[in-house]
Amino acid sequence: MIDTALPRPYQNYVYAYPHKTAYRPLPARPALSQVWAGESRSALSLYLHIPFCEVRCGFCNLFTRVGAPDGLTGRYLDALTRQATAVRDGLGDAEPLRFANAAFGGGTPTFLEADELTRLCDIAEQIMGADLRAIPLSVEASPATSTADRLAVLADRGATRLSLGVQSFIDEEARAAVRPQRRTDVEAALGRIRDAGIPVLNIDLIYGIDGQTAASWQVSLDAALAWRPEEIYLYPLYVRPLTGLARHADPAVAEQDWDRDRLARYAQGRDHLLAAGYEQVSMRMFRRRDAPPQGPDDYACQTDGMIGLGCGARSYTSTLHYSFDYAVDMREVRGIIDTYVATTDFGSALHGRVIDGDEAARRHLLQSLLQADGLSVADYRHRFGTDPWEDFGDQLHTLAERGWLADSGADLLQLSAEGLAYSDAIGPDFFSPAVRAAMAAYELR
Ligand code: SF4
Repeated sequence: MIDTALPRPYQNYVYAYPHKTAYRPLPARPALSQVWAGESRSALSLYLHIPFCEVRCGFCNLFTRVGAPDGLTGRYLDALTRQATAVRDGLGDAEPLRFANAAFGGGTPTFLEADELTRLCDIAEQIMGADLRAIPLSVEASPATSTADRLAVLADRGATRLSLGVQSFIDEEARAAVRPQRRTDVEAALGRIRDAGIPVLNIDLIYGIDGQTAASWQVSLDAALAWRPEEIYLYPLYVRPLTGLARHADPAVAEQDWDRDRLARYAQGRDHLLAAGYEQVSMRMFRRRDAPPQGPDDYACQTDGMIGLGCGARSYTSTLHYSFDYAVDMREVRGIIDTYVATTDFGSALHGRVIDGDEAARRHLLQSLLQADGLSVADYRHRFGTDPWEDFGDQLHTLAERGWLADSGADLLQLSAEGLAYSDAIGPDFFSPAVRAAMAAYELR
């Protein structure tokens, strides 16, 4: 039985704080040269966003559209080139610019053809100045678009990590999650990725799919493990408003039963991967213990800036997070992409949120506490001059009372195994009232 005295376990996946639904138009539209003035450029992250997919998966709320008619990918790359040029100009040459890591995300970056991927790498290298072969480069891909010619371009240009969205190795489950694909095609794609020699393979799996059982989940886990991927992500299924599953959801499935099932599948997956030689990095991420060292984890870069290029990419300085407009609904997304492609002036930040000291502390805490390694109290004190127990005493005491903090000594705030399982319930407790209010007031479209 699920303990109903506890909060619901699947509330909010805090992959970035603050969430884009807390961004608002920036009335001053600050010039990028102003936004980046005084910011360190010694270890930036570079992210290029490709908002195209072959299909829209029912569980997905990412910023993406299905297909790219009438040469849209080419025009999108033209716009990316213009944006990259404007951003590079905005950063100026007063201080040397160095990128510590790069990622192509989406959508599905491998929706681009091989020659278009070459253009994408050229933008990162020749305009932004990122030395892709010398830094970790992570690329997201789908099975159908992981073709040998595309993988060859990526491997040649220095991709160190290929993340494949498999979700399930059971054909019926893939259909239930509104992503029709056959296991034979997935296995063939995995073979091509291994043949390409990209050092790190990540496989994404999803639990909580309609009809998924402990036995079928085990089949997917074992099928993934057969490839000995360096990383595996286990995602709980979230039904999001305005995505396909919300419209087709079975109303008879009680939410509480679904929580219970997901908690059980999570524990099963975690235990199976730990026994198979993986370590847990966060609630979702598992890394093979003998995998080669690689680039930063999703939250490793706590203080350095991020340059995001593309219509759904965020950029971070120490005091401002910014992006373009945001939507989930297909028609709205298409409109934002069309506006992006038609844009000629990329010299200002348009939508975003100012990050003051309080928000920076919350972000630091979330980025650390939700990782299995936890938060170093000394690091927090060094950065913010206060103690996390002073700043977040109420929330931390609640975690302790629930048994969600591990007994790790005074200098480490670390979630217990039970706490990690409830990561998506813990994160929202640390959002500021202002961010909470902005998210609540955001009209989902
Ligand atoms: S899950 Fe991935 S492949 Fe599916 S729609 Fe979302 S971004 Fe595209």
